[in-house]
Amino acid sequence: MTAFPAGTVLGYPRLGPQRELKRALEAHWAGRLDAAGLEDAARALRARTRSHLAALGLSADGSAIPEASSLYDQVLDAIVATGAVPSRFTAPGPDSVLDADGGVSLAGYFTLARGSEAHPALEMTKWFDTNYHYLVPELAPDQAFRADPSRLAAQVAEARAQGFVTRPVLVGPVTLLALAKPAADAPEGFQPLSLLDRLLPVYAELLSALREAGAEWVQLDEPALVSESLDATPAELAAAAAQAYAVLGALEARARLLVTTPYGSPSEAAWAALTAAPVEALAIDLVRGSLPAAAPGLADKTLVAGVVDGRNVWRGDLAAAFDTLEAAASLGAAAVTVGTSTSLQHLPHTVADETALDPRLVSWLAFADERVAQVTTLARGLGEGRAAIAAELDAATAALADRAAADGVRVEAVRARTAALTPADIERLPAHERAVIQQDRLALPILPTTTIGSFPQTAELRIARAQHARGEATTEAYEEVLRLEIARVIGLQEEIGLDVLVHGEPERNDMVQYFAEHLDGFAVTRNGWVQSYGSRATRPSLLWGDVSRPAPITVRWAEFAQSLSEKHVKGMLTGPVTILAWSFVRDDLALGETARQVALALRDEIADLEAAGIAIVQVDEPALRELLPLRADAQEEYLRWSVDAFRLATAGAAPETQIHTHLCYSEFGVVLDAIRGLDADVTSIEAARSRGEVIAELAAAGFDRGIGPGAYDIHSPRVPSTDEVAALLTLAAEQLPLRQVWVNPDCGLKTRAYPETIAALTHLVEATARVRETV
Ligand code: GLN
Ligand code: ZN
Repeated sequence: MTAFPAGTVLGYPRLGPQRELKRALEAHWAGRLDAAGLEDAARALRARTRSHLAALGLSADGSAIPEASSLYDQVLDAIVATGAVPSRFTAPGPDSVLDADGGVSLAGYFTLARGSEAHPALEMTKWFDTNYHYLVPELAPDQAFRADPSRLAAQVAEARAQGFVTRPVLVGPVTLLALAKPAADAPEGFQPLSLLDRLLPVYAELLSALREAGAEWVQLDEPALVSESLDATPAELAAAAAQAYAVLGALEARARLLVTTPYGSPSEAAWAALTAAPVEALAIDLVRGSLPAAAPGLADKTLVAGVVDGRNVWRGDLAAAFDTLEAAASLGAAAVTVGTSTSLQHLPHTVADETALDPRLVSWLAFADERVAQVTTLARGLGEGRAAIAAELDAATAALADRAAADGVRVEAVRARTAALTPADIERLPAHERAVIQQDRLALPILPTTTIGSFPQTAELRIARAQHARGEATTEAYEEVLRLEIARVIGLQEEIGLDVLVHGEPERNDMVQYFAEHLDGFAVTRNGWVQSYGSRATRPSLLWGDVSRPAPITVRWAEFAQSLSEKHVKGMLTGPVTILAWSFVRDDLALGETARQVALALRDEIADLEAAGIAIVQVDEPALRELLPLRADAQEEYLRWSVDAFRLATAGAAPETQIHTHLCYSEFGVVLDAIRGLDADVTSIEAARSRGEVIAELAAAGFDRGIGPGAYDIHSPRVPSTDEVAALLTLAAEQLPLRQVWVNPDCGLKTRAYPETIAALTHLVEATARVRETV
């Protein structure tokens, strides 16, 4: 058996350089590609990934190449491999997700991920503090487990046949349980982590099957050990890790084990548990995390030092990374090798595709392939000494210096403006005084009705935008399409009888990219796709320099929409935290400072909207909770700068301008105070899926601003009945002071089609009229 390789990556982008897997998946779901065709496409992509990674310098037969593909999600893969399928999916009959042998069928796999007529899908939520979403395991106290190594073992064998010894990657047992939620019928207080005893034999079986298939090393990912934001405490997680790796390490027939703790530092207790466990290698994140304590248990282990950033795009300080590697050598491990901090699944494939970007900016970047090259360089340095890689280290240092000195990276006028800010800049008149002034100006009925901003993005719109982007349509022609669409959306809202209108956001393909395209300091990529979930990918913008607004962004669209109606039309902006959360951010400036720069640009935009006669401005912050740090001690500081950035963006507004915000969720927890702190006049939130439970929570917390609990779920094409909407509204009107309650859908309508949208909004207005009569 081989030693752990000198350099490796913990994972690699999974959709393919041209999103081949996305296309195959969507063709399969649409019935245009059969199961065999899908499997062929996935197999071809896996083969390409292996040979590509070998060509980039990872050892082909030394377990350096991770076997880390997925047809949808790695947590779902672990659910399937351990047979941890919730019983609601397995009742015998045609709707079961299991095949005749009791394993999950391919169709069943996609039912778990996407739902079917008979089964709502598994819930989806964010993977640690990234923008990747995983499927949430649902476990009951009597959950059955059953090892199904078939897929991963077949891939290891397939790699062998291709001439590769790869390293299969699996979510580890502690993390699988720690991310699970109790099934709906589980008794109060049930902890999924209590199932560990029964889960471990299943992992043991998986490990021995993978060994038999030809794996020499297996990677188990345990990011739960770095988080303080899970239901289980760090102490409980560490105890579970101690138990799990004592058992798995002691197995006779198994491959060697690499246990990883990406996305931060493992808790002290978890680190003690892992270093004491009989496993052969540990991988730590030395980009987000810091160097852990030396531990005697390391003496027989390889330490895979994750000094190459798996999450952000900056080429970075390679010499400093090499210093960190040398420092890691002092921890007492038998060997130190080079790794990425996390899987590279959070990065686009290669900067070589970005031919439309300024080459100078490109020279400062490293996407997944360039990260692999950094790993192999550093590994060579470890083997042959620093002098052997001096040229590469110097080139990276020179790129850093070039970046620091480049025009636009540091703009004195922008810095001077943020430096001059005072506490008064984030204060408005007290909210209750504003409310009176606003009601005078806006003259809205009780239970005012509105929408969250976007209307359905029609095929015509998408075609027009694509033609314009390719230069096949003139800007005048494209803008005429936009004006026609805005006029149609305004007319429609008037007809339906909504009180506060929107322009429908037809000019935006994406709520962040649109702003990035219009702000200095940002760049957008051509092919910089990053998997968000399943077949979905986003193209995060690159925030590379100081941010400012060269010209108004949304004003003429808002002004045009307002000119078409006597009713108020909301201005519609994306908030500073969401703009940062959905971009690749700078590593050379504190996030809080960048947030202030973005906030000032938005503040100017709001002033221009006001000057154009707009009375209501909505600033969306759906990502406010997403960026919340995993470690409790970092949360307070984050909430301070993020809330202040929102206030800085909005507090320049006159008291008679009503500021709305929109959040896409309803589990507020630690962020409830932060939401109050935003000081918005009206907040719209998700509420329909939890059937309004959040309303009682807000009432109990004494939330005393306008609140629009989403009256129906826009994530499904289902049209809510008038009765259903009326019931939710009645609930809100009973529990909250009436003048606070707004009526709106859960979220924007851009992913819906028009027929269901018109029907649902009509029911929403009818329900409002009915409830208004009863209160
Ligand atoms: N205004 C945006 C829209 O309606 C909000 C979307 C979001 O919160 N994700 O599309
Ligand atoms: Zn939303």
